[in-house]
Amino acid sequence: MESPELSFTLVYVVFCLCFVFTPTEFHSAGLTIQNLFSSWLGSEDLGFVQYHVRRTTVTLLVHSALPIGYYMGMCVAAPDRNLGYVFQVSPAPDGWRAFLLLSLCVQVTSWMFIIYWSRHHWHNHPISRALEAHMHPSHSDWCSVAASINTEFRRIDKFATGAPGARVIVTDSWVLKVTTYHVYVALQSECHVTVTESRQHQLSPDSASPAQILTLRVDSINPAVKPFDIRLQSTEYGDLREKLHAPIRNAANVVIHQTISELFLETFRAQVELNQPYPLPTGQEVESCIGCMQVLACTKLVKLCHTDDCQQCFCRPMWCLSCLGRWFASRQDQQRPETWLSSTVPCPTCRARFCILDVCAVR
Ligand SMILES: [Zn+2]
Ligand SMILES: [Zn+2]
Ligand SMILES: [Zn+2]
Repeated sequence: MESPELSFTLVYVVFCLCFVFTPTEFHSAGLTIQNLFSSWLGSEDLGFVQYHVRRTTVTLLVHSALPIGYYMGMCVAAPDRNLGYVFQVSPAPDGWRAFLLLSLCVQVTSWMFIIYWSRHHWHNHPISRALEAHMHPSHSDWCSVAASINTEFRRIDKFATGAPGARVIVTDSWVLKVTTYHVYVALQSECHVTVTESRQHQLSPDSASPAQILTLRVDSINPAVKPFDIRLQSTEYGDLREKLHAPIRNAANVVIHQTISELFLETFRAQVELNQPYPLPTGQEVESCIGCMQVLACTKLVKLCHTDDCQQCFCRPMWCLSCLGRWFASRQDQQRPETWLSSTVPCPTCRARFCILDVCAVR
């Protein structure tokens, strides 16, 4: 049983979710506030702050109109409900009336917010307020703070990363985070940064490359600036460090993997854990790894896979897991990490080819 109302509701809910959270498909289709209103928003490069004041305003206006859009769409999708005739003697059902009233309230409230924000040249807008916190000592009003940010944003050597809903920009003296409804601002010379969390996405057959996502909290000594979180890939951490002169504290003792090879080591370790272990023959001693001489050699290559590419290696355990993993990663096509899991490399000692399934931990 499929009614047009139900199908319309489902389609509209999915549309709203996509429109508000804009996945990549919506971006490439151009269905974003930035695209639809580009002529009115102007250029982000010419006036970064003014652009985002306008963008967040339009975003609020459009998002708050989504409930009304649903009601109007329903008028068309289900004409027999007479939703279009709210003022008639036998009006639309009560539930719908309440919904319409609520949607109108949401819309009117958002208009009231916008009128309040726009007074005195947008002086009351949350972004202007955030800039006002930085007025002293070098700036006389929020417009001069805005001018400083605009100028620095135009420079090509800024650090910029992240999805459109959570962009991170670091310029010579500012740390900025652009979200759907707000722009967070901190002065580099006033802030300190803490690595608070790390999430690791391992290399898998359906991901193009392994990734480590770092969360950093930006705190300012300026009490008017609220702390905020920024997120970036660990491989971008080096670039961030180059631009960010504020001290970075690693509170959670997160190991930051700055290269794809280092990231791959985590995947390598996890896979070896899954492989069956190699029981050391009685009487045989494990020696130190001949790669790093730091730890015991704890890996043995045993042909466990069923491909003809691999050969049996007869070497005794000679390498530790990290050294073998680095060797494995170094022999791969660095541009195509998605092929790493399925490829074979020669044993560093005897050159017998092995794949990741043939690496056993010595027990
Ligand atoms: Zn080693
Ligand atoms: Zn070998
Ligand atoms: Zn193999």
